[in-house]
Amino acid sequence: MDNIKERKVAVLGHRGVGKSSLVFQYIENAFVSNYYPTIENIVEKQVEFRGSKYNIAIYDTAGQDEFSQLNSRYTVGVQAFIVVYSVNSRESYEMAITIHDKLVDQTGNQHVNMVLVGNKTDLADSRVVSYDEAKGLAQEFGCPYIESSAKNKVNIEEIFVRAAFREEIEAEVAEAK
Ligand code: GDP
Repeated sequence: MDNIKERKVAVLGHRGVGKSSLVFQYIENAFVSNYYPTIENIVEKQVEFRGSKYNIAIYDTAGQDEFSQLNSRYTVGVQAFIVVYSVNSRESYEMAITIHDKLVDQTGNQHVNMVLVGNKTDLADSRVVSYDEAKGLAQEFGCPYIESSAKNKVNIEEIFVRAAFREEIEAEVAEAK
């Protein structure tokens, strides 16, 4: 029998930034434009990475606001966090910073294993957060920054692979140097 390894990632961010749309694109390869606020959802996908089989469990969380406590259900046993904001909402960018700070507090780890994601890049005309600004923030956090469009299927796979296999990818990069 195949030995399937487990990975858990949690998707966090302000309501409406496209968390469920990113997850849905990754799992189903489709985009739904109707907005149904997520309560909480766990989906799984089986993938192969570097010749091994993995089951990735993805926690699609209800959006956070500044008062929310991060539920320990999606912090305990989670290898990586995907923290999403929308490039056309400064409020959601500020929320990404708040969520990062809460993760530092809650995990007791100054270096949170996360990927910062700027979604909705197709809405270029209403963009209010530049690539450089967000990239600078990610550098402060010591994490990768990826821009995406769930609508136009840009960088979807990259987000989840980078989150689930960050250690392996970074070890390879270090080895190649
Ligand atoms: P969540 O609350 O963070 O899970 O956000 P949803 O995935 O429910 O998306 C909120 C709204 O934004 C929905 O109307 C989506 O169709 C829309 N949306 C999500 N991703 C994108 C994107 O990349 N581009 C555009 N234009 N709209 C998006």
